[in-house]
Amino acid sequence: MIRTEQENSMLADLLFEDVVESREDIFKKYPRRKLEKEQLVLRFAPSPTGYLHIGNVYTALAGYILTKNSNGVFILRIEDTDKEREIEEGIVQIVDGLKYFGIEFDEGVLGKGKTEGIYGPYIQSERVEIYRVFAKDLVSKGLAYPCFATEQELEEIRKQQEKKRERTGYYGKWAKWRDASLDSIEKELEKETPYVIRLYSRGDFKKKIECTDLIKGRVTLSQNDMDSILLKSDGYPTYHFAHPIDDTLMDISYVLRGDEWLSSQPLHMEIFEALEFKQLDYGHISPLMKKEGEGKRKLSKRRDPESRVAFYIENGYPVEGVKEYLLNVANSSFSDWRRLNPDSDILEFNLRLEKFNKAGALFDILKINNICKEYISTLSAQQVYNYALEWSEKYSEQTFSKLSNHREYCINILNIEREGERIRKDIVKWSDVLTQLEIFFDDLFINMKKDVVEMEDNLQRAILNMFLDTYYFEDSSSEWFNKIKEIALRNNFSTDSTEYIKDPSKYRGRIGDVAMVIRVATTGRRQTPDLYQVMQVMGEVRVRERLQGYINDVLM
Ligand code: GLU
Repeated sequence: MIRTEQENSMLADLLFEDVVESREDIFKKYPRRKLEKEQLVLRFAPSPTGYLHIGNVYTALAGYILTKNSNGVFILRIEDTDKEREIEEGIVQIVDGLKYFGIEFDEGVLGKGKTEGIYGPYIQSERVEIYRVFAKDLVSKGLAYPCFATEQELEEIRKQQEKKRERTGYYGKWAKWRDASLDSIEKELEKETPYVIRLYSRGDFKKKIECTDLIKGRVTLSQNDMDSILLKSDGYPTYHFAHPIDDTLMDISYVLRGDEWLSSQPLHMEIFEALEFKQLDYGHISPLMKKEGEGKRKLSKRRDPESRVAFYIENGYPVEGVKEYLLNVANSSFSDWRRLNPDSDILEFNLRLEKFNKAGALFDILKINNICKEYISTLSAQQVYNYALEWSEKYSEQTFSKLSNHREYCINILNIEREGERIRKDIVKWSDVLTQLEIFFDDLFINMKKDVVEMEDNLQRAILNMFLDTYYFEDSSSEWFNKIKEIALRNNFSTDSTEYIKDPSKYRGRIGDVAMVIRVATTGRRQTPDLYQVMQVMGEVRVRERLQGYINDVLM
């Protein structure tokens, strides 16, 4: 450093003329929290730069449960300092997406224009003055400096580094403005040359630092020696500079974030040190991965629709099911816990960071489907109806119109095989409900693609006519079945599978084939829930119309 202490202090005044507050003034505004030791203060800090990723929900869910477990404070902070990548309504998307999953915050951004807490502002772009106070402090101490290098110059440096096979970046001897004289800096300022503020790194890349990550355990990384940018030329801070300041002022317990940041942890530690802040612990969550061939890869924003939170919302995945799955991915012990505590709220689960997958957890949409199916099978018809109604109001006009105009009928439909021994498990998400309704509504039924039966028409006609002759709506399920048995016997279909297997040639087929004709004629499908119950819900008139319609229109 060739600038004297006095020169650095002059430089700080020159660059930050408008900054009158000191770091002490700022600290006074952000008192330490008065909490019990076990009460955690965590934050989820997304950037509104794109759609909400299921990995965001995964990370946020972890913070939510950990803070709730400890009766602590969960904060939503918006990191919107990358103005070029910011998308419109990005904040609303984040808040709404997380709310959909029942992840609610105690402090920070709670909605559009709505915040809570005394540690704000909670949107980084509104905290620029705070960052400038700390940047000024660093410049005055010779720990940060203005850099006027243009894009072209930086590109040139990179080329030379590549040619010489040296590490690329702005550091050490390559950092042209690191030790510039006050005079030369003043000249550029007079010319109004755009500049950034960089860290004056004191690290040595050849030296190692060891730290204990809350998830990954011991990690060894090289010290930072990059003079990284702290304030960009547009005046906004980089993530590297903003998060140590925010996490310190907001009195966060530790940082839970995606492991794409692990490699910059040495830089962050150096910034904490330069700012004379107490170092914070980090827990780096590994990304959600997808199986591909023999290997696995990160769940991709572009290639995998299931990476988008909107995918779950639009298709009406039950949030409880998705959350259960994510907790399974986080701690594999969750499934055992769930088995033992089938009715407990997930907030009672003791989530452990050290049990998180360290390398990259596999994310499997088929498993989500299974969990959701299981979950929905535990609901009552009324609950399924309510959830589906709420979802469809926004996402499926057709479903909504049926559900809202035919409430009783729909609840009866959804109640088929929902009680008793065999519980139906054919609904994964609310958008599947329409397929369940289809066969029960004539207007939907007409347009449905129907399954066919492999049996000559005359025989089908005979079976259906016999069924129509004896069909009696008040019959119990066993009376109804006995009538089908009777039809089978009269037409030489076997009603005893052991007998049938002995000599199939003696029969035209089995009783199941007879039931299949009646099933397809009534519903257009080869697979349905219990046909007796289906008919009871449809009502006698509709059943007769369907069967007659099939005889008249489908059979030749
Ligand atoms: N804004 C950063 C991101 O979205 C946050 C990382 C963190 O939680 O510290 O990746």
